[in-house]
Amino acid sequence: MRVLIAAGPTREPIDPIRFISNHSSGKMGYALAKAAVARGYRVTLISGPVSLPPPPQVKLYTVETSKDMHTVVLREAKRADIVIMAAAVADYRPSKISLHKIKKDKNTMILKLTKTPDILKELGQRKLDDQILVGFAAETNRLLFHAKQKLKSKNLDFIFANLVGKKGVGFESDDNQITLIHRDGYTHRFPRMNKIRLAQQMIGLITRKNSR
Ligand code: C5P
Repeated sequence: MRVLIAAGPTREPIDPIRFISNHSSGKMGYALAKAAVARGYRVTLISGPVSLPPPPQVKLYTVETSKDMHTVVLREAKRADIVIMAAAVADYRPSKISLHKIKKDKNTMILKLTKTPDILKELGQRKLDDQILVGFAAETNRLLFHAKQKLKSKNLDFIFANLVGKKGVGFESDDNQITLIHRDGYTHRFPRMNKIRLAQQMIGLITRKNSR
């Protein structure tokens, strides 16, 4: 079984010095990669900039921007049985990257942003036969409602719904609180636990549920 996991944030450059990014630490995606290796799967990890050591035995590609992540994920997904998009891909990027450092001579400035491609949605549109597509929904409110909508609109098999904005779980934390939803409506709420243990259970449940 070949598993592709995308993890971490992306960085969208404004000028040679600055970028737009988010709080993703990559911990959940890296824990999933480790758990998949432990199950004997061949794992490719595509990672945005994080400060984590690469898990042993994974094929690692590091990327910076959403554009790079788009290119590498779409290329590698052609060879994957399971694709898990745990990356916090930027939804917008600066429309123009300044060649030189922008000077602070104005009191206000407007930065024009352009929507980035939704990688997971594209994967859903061109899903290979028998390929399992897994996404995340990190939400601050109406978690299950938004997660179910994403599962449908992106043509996913599973979605991990993840409440964020709560202290101690989610972005940058060691713990997480996740609910798994399958496209047939099956739902499983994992208790709050460490991301490493949680990842083992998440990979286990995807495999079990899918082989039924
Ligand atoms: O729509 P939303 O961004 O909340 O969906 C989250 C899911 O979509 C995550 O699995 C994330 O990795 C993926 N995503 C993506 N490309 C984007 C934005 C999000 O693949 N540009």
